[in-house]
Amino acid sequence: MLIFKEIAPLQKELQRLNAQGLSIGFIPTMGALHNGHLSLVNIAATHCNVTICSIFVNPTQFNDKDDLERYPRTPEHDIMLLQQAKCDILFMPGVEDMYANVTIPSFELGYLNQILEAAHRPGHFDGVAQVVYRFFDIIKPTKAFFGSKDYQQVMVVRRMTQLAGFSTEIIACPIIREKSGLAMSSRNSLLSEAEKAEAEKISAYLSEALNGLDTTSIEQQLEITTAQLLNIHHSRLDYLVFANPDTLEPITHWQANQPVMVLVAVFIGKIRLIDNMVKHPRG
Ligand code: AMP
Repeated sequence: MLIFKEIAPLQKELQRLNAQGLSIGFIPTMGALHNGHLSLVNIAATHCNVTICSIFVNPTQFNDKDDLERYPRTPEHDIMLLQQAKCDILFMPGVEDMYANVTIPSFELGYLNQILEAAHRPGHFDGVAQVVYRFFDIIKPTKAFFGSKDYQQVMVVRRMTQLAGFSTEIIACPIIREKSGLAMSSRNSLLSEAEKAEAEKISAYLSEALNGLDTTSIEQQLEITTAQLLNIHHSRLDYLVFANPDTLEPITHWQANQPVMVLVAVFIGKIRLIDNMVKHPRG
């Protein structure tokens, strides 16, 4: 695996690869890698000739200074995992390389920048759109791979890509979970054993919530699932919503022939976790 910390030598290598007509699959991450990230590298390798992963804890997408400071950083372990996953290139830029002396457009994200994550983390998606724009501008990937755990983020990235006129194809990949059902996240490493045991209840409640819709109204099901989530020790709920997976508009009356998803953001102690599940119509 080639490791680049600076833009110019990376671009020289990318030029060499482009000249050979090779397709480039890009996986942006903030490091503290786990199997969720590695699944994206594996999927990218089935789509593209060359895989390039970035590790960059992007300060502009954190609206909470403590969250940024406490974000886990494990670069050596990450490098080992990416080597094992046969990633071809790792790009680890510094904040200066990404943001000094460059002008990055701002993007009109509309409704996506008002709801759910955006409502609870003001400025977060402006930072995400900005950093992904910068990476796409440097790398010009053929395809880029994102996890559906950050479902709204994938929609934001698609919108930014369209507005900016990049030709990069955005591929949404499945959520990788632990055996317990807990969605893998770099933030899980910040949970104590006891908190982790509590966090493991989240996915079971989401799955029950979707099943419950067969017999229970959305309104009642929201009450039931909210009560379950609030019963988790040291939990605090940011949001719990049933929504249309295509638009993220809330669903208030569900019909069995409609796709529906449930999205949640919940604090366990100081650690904020997100998760979601989709239910497709039968038949
Ligand atoms: P992060 O390092 O948290 O910014 O995540 C980098 C990429 O990995 C994003 O596209 C995430 O959606 C994706 N990702 C994180 N956790 C998972 C997971 N459990 N399953 C699949 N993809 C994930």
